[in-house]
Amino acid sequence: MKRVEILISGIVQGVGFRPFVYRTASAHNISGFVKNTVSGVLIEAQGEKPDIDNFILHIRQSPPASSKIKGIHIRSIPLKKESGFRIFKSNGQFWQRPEIPPDIAICSKCSEEILNSKDRRYFYPFTNCVDCGPRFTIIKSLSYDRENTSMEEFRMCAECAREYRNPDDRRFHAQTNCCEKCGPTVFLTDSEGSIISRNQAAIRKTAELIADGKIFAIKGIDGFHLVCDAFSLFAIKTLRDRKKREEKPFAVMARNLETIEKYCFVSRKEKEFLTSGSAPIMLLRKKENPENFEQIAPKNRYLGVMLPYSGIHHLIFECEQSLELLVMTSGNYSEQPICTDNKQALRLLSDIVDFFLFHNREIISGCDDSVMRVLPDHKPLMIRRSRGFSPESIQLPFVFEKPVLACGGNIKNTFSVAMNNSLYMSHHIGDLDNPDAFDIYALTIDRYLNILKIKPEIIAYDAHPEYNSTMFAVSQDFFPDAVRTPVYHHHAHICSCMVENKIENRTVIGVAFDGTGYGEDDTLWGGEFLLCDYSGFERKAHLRPVKLPGGELAIKQIWRIALSFVMDAFDEGYDSRLFGFLKEIDVKKIEMVKRMIETNVNCPYSSGLGRFFDAVSCICGLRTQISFEGQAAAELESVIKEDPSDRPYKFDIVKNDDIFIIDHRITIREIVRDIKEKKSAGQISHRFHLTVIRMVYEICTLLHKQTGIKEVVLSGGSFQNVFLSVNVRKALERAGFTVYSHTMIPPNDACISVGQCAVAGSFNL
Ligand code: ZN
Ligand code: ZN
Ligand code: FE
Repeated sequence: MKRVEILISGIVQGVGFRPFVYRTASAHNISGFVKNTVSGVLIEAQGEKPDIDNFILHIRQSPPASSKIKGIHIRSIPLKKESGFRIFKSNGQFWQRPEIPPDIAICSKCSEEILNSKDRRYFYPFTNCVDCGPRFTIIKSLSYDRENTSMEEFRMCAECAREYRNPDDRRFHAQTNCCEKCGPTVFLTDSEGSIISRNQAAIRKTAELIADGKIFAIKGIDGFHLVCDAFSLFAIKTLRDRKKREEKPFAVMARNLETIEKYCFVSRKEKEFLTSGSAPIMLLRKKENPENFEQIAPKNRYLGVMLPYSGIHHLIFECEQSLELLVMTSGNYSEQPICTDNKQALRLLSDIVDFFLFHNREIISGCDDSVMRVLPDHKPLMIRRSRGFSPESIQLPFVFEKPVLACGGNIKNTFSVAMNNSLYMSHHIGDLDNPDAFDIYALTIDRYLNILKIKPEIIAYDAHPEYNSTMFAVSQDFFPDAVRTPVYHHHAHICSCMVENKIENRTVIGVAFDGTGYGEDDTLWGGEFLLCDYSGFERKAHLRPVKLPGGELAIKQIWRIALSFVMDAFDEGYDSRLFGFLKEIDVKKIEMVKRMIETNVNCPYSSGLGRFFDAVSCICGLRTQISFEGQAAAELESVIKEDPSDRPYKFDIVKNDDIFIIDHRITIREIVRDIKEKKSAGQISHRFHLTVIRMVYEICTLLHKQTGIKEVVLSGGSFQNVFLSVNVRKALERAGFTVYSHTMIPPNDACISVGQCAVAGSFNL
């Protein structure tokens, strides 16, 4: 006989782990107990030695589907007198770091039940079991037990309680277990909040009204969605109008995989993600582009598509067989955070929607849908890491001695919290210039620190003095004793990619390409080549800086940037009237901006690759202004016409104080010549992309010659560009470089907090 204590860390709470352990113990004649702790699951197991070995083997080899074991620690302890195996209630004992389990899409067993008229859960949208349902979004504190979630107020009825107590039931210890008798309920209201119907009738009516072209706000498990039929042009246009969202793409939800395949190309890997418990929005190539798809994702080859991931979604499709695709976009006004609260939704969304489908379960943390794509080389690329992924911990390639809070960037904000060797990257918070998003940001940081029981001793933030996250970080009313550590934006970018690839502290060539980030010389960087490790960096090469006439304004009115690039490239002797891209701009405005550039008034310098993309897409005639970040660059990528005979444009590399500067003046002159020769935007875009790839190749080769370093790390929003990402990697690998890029952490500013953590926490490496 022997007795062991087994401590399991990872995603082991809220995924049916304790019941699984219970059943495994019974099958192997093991006595003892299992319980949740803040750090994972603790088992004490007693039995014959071979039984114990098999018991542990089975736990390692076939744990529950949604669990993820990250560590098992076993030690022998003295025998005890006992019989049977028990599941204990959780306690607050502290071991390692806990996990906050992400939400999991409704499983196939549960979705079958709600569609089966003989089942007692027929048409009940909150049906879940131990393998599925909300987690993070309903958790108030750890451990993950019903009384620590917003299910607390729903007392299980006798039948549900029986399931909950029965070890052979799928709902044994399922914390969200409920039914129509005892659980949350839905209700339909008009846009003013007057109740029309409840429960099954409400769902049926909702489906009918959507099929009839009406616009809805539907409260999901993690926030409100704005919903309409994706084949109703009128509804889509009305939604755009009312939501003040002119061109930014909407996501859609498809009835099933077959529907997706009807309209989009789907690879095996993409199917895997679509049908996974994370159920993200996947960006898929459209097969055709009818008018309604053009309205949903304007000037875009891709459509963001997801599958139903909660009971309510399945039931709506079930009610109206004519519905194939639903527009499903975050329920917010303009760029505000996703609505989670009924009253707030009624206040903010009643001008946008015709009806509401509410429910009465509280959403503790709102969480947007995650967005991903799969690259042609089959590597996943996260664009927005949120529902279904956050806040699962990321293992660091080193150990932190002090707990760190990293406040992140300003747009696409996330923050991160790290301790020991675990890092928790928050779900997507959004654009902190929005006051509501900023309020939620502060609240959410508090919530994470509370749930994780972490008191930061180091607070890291972006070196940009005007980021809202920076102002938050340096204000003294928040952990006044913590050390404040500023981190440069592009250093954070590269380090986040190093963390993701588990690179230990060694020097790499970092290529950081994005729109804007604050640099050491107080100018805006973004076309950067750094030699760096976690403790520091050296700027070794960058794009030639160009003036941004009007600063922030130029980032929206990209014709200003285009004019600036052209004036820089031609010195004199150009005539702006020759350029089609300025035709729609008021002549007086053009003259004013020209004067700004000539006299250097309100013209910050930027070396951002994103700005170079803006300029070229404008010069090509694609657009003169943008309505959301990255729009022009995405369109330039979208029009690429690949022709193997295309060559890159010329560029110069000049050396200044041991720093290489990529001079693109000749590139711009060649592009302007191509335009005069009436070359298509597709061809110019292709040649431009080849040029940027060539720039990366040339600089990395030069830096390799200088330093001998063969490892290149890629980060920054520009690497969301599929053509660029895939071909930069190819070019570098062909030349013998080892290339690291982002996969499950977005390359855009969402990754900044991860890099900040690594830099600030690794001072002792
Ligand atoms: Zn289930
Ligand atoms: Zn019940
Ligand atoms: Fe950035």
